[in-house]
Amino acid sequence: MKDTLIKAMACDGHVRIYMCSSTHLIEEARQRFDLWPTASAALGRTLTVASMMGSMLKDEKEQLTIKINGGGPIGTILVDAYPDGHVRGFVSDPHVHYQYNDTGKLAVGIAVGCDGTLEVVKHMTKRDNWRGVVQLQSGEIAEDFARYFTESEQTPSAVSLGVLVDTDHHILSAGGFIIQMMPGAEEEDIVKTEELLKRIQPISALIKEHDSLQDILMNFYDDVRILSEQPIEFRCHCCEATMKRVLTTLPKEERMAMIEQDHGCEITCNFCNERYHFNEQQLRELEDFLDVHAKH
Ligand SMILES: [Zn+2]
Repeated sequence: MKDTLIKAMACDGHVRIYMCSSTHLIEEARQRFDLWPTASAALGRTLTVASMMGSMLKDEKEQLTIKINGGGPIGTILVDAYPDGHVRGFVSDPHVHYQYNDTGKLAVGIAVGCDGTLEVVKHMTKRDNWRGVVQLQSGEIAEDFARYFTESEQTPSAVSLGVLVDTDHHILSAGGFIIQMMPGAEEEDIVKTEELLKRIQPISALIKEHDSLQDILMNFYDDVRILSEQPIEFRCHCCEATMKRVLTTLPKEERMAMIEQDHGCEITCNFCNERYHFNEQQLRELEDFLDVHAKH
C-alpha cells in the first residue's frame, strides 16, 4: 500500500477519522538512522501520529513539533510535522531493542519509559504558538496521544498506531488512525466506536492485508464519507545553507580549529542524518563573510 493519509467522517458527521499508512516512510527513517526494531516502532509510531496531526493544521505555513521523553534508554523522540503531509524526526539512541517476554511484542514502553512528558508545540502563523503537555501514561505512544487529545485539545479521541517489523529489521507495514468524537456525538456513536475498537485487528495487520485505506475504513462504520486524501513522506528540508548557519553558531575558536587543524569539517543533520562536508576553502570563505558582516 502507498503511504497515504485520509480524512473521513462517519456516524452522521458525529465522528471524525484520520487514517494513514506509513510503511515506506518508516522504512526510510529506519535506513537513515539504522534503527533497531524497538526504536523503529517508537519513532515510527510517533512519525505516524505526527503526519496525521500535521494534516490538522489550518495554514500551509504552520508546523508542529512533538517531543517525548519518558526517561527510558531511547532518550528523546523529536518529530516535526507539516500540513502538506511530510514529517521528519529522530530518537537520541537508535540502537535500542527490547521485547516483552510474555507476548514477544516490541517493548516500546520500556524503551521510551513513562517518567516524563509528551509535549506538542504548534507554530502558528496567525496567532501565538500553542503548547500542550501531558504526563506519559505508558510510553507506548498511542495511549499517550489519546490522553493528549482528550486533555490538552479537549477532543475525546481513540488513537491506534502500529509498526510491524520483520526478522531482518525492515518494516513490513505501518500506519495508524485517530477517531475523534465531534461535539454533537451521541451515546450510540460512542458505543459503536467502542465496539469497533474491540473487534478490529491491530492497524499494522489491517494495512498489511488490505490494498487501500478505503477498504479498511468501509469495514469500520457503515456510513463512511471520505473528505480528502493526500500522500505522506519522510522529508527533511536541511541544505548546505542551513548547515552553514549551524557553523556560525559555534565559537570562532572552534571554527578556526576546523580550518587550521582539520582542514575541513563534516556536519550531520539531526533530523535526517544527512552528512554535509565543508572543505578548508569553504570554511575560510565563510569566515571572511562573517568578518565583513560582524557587528563591532
Ligand atoms: Zn536534514
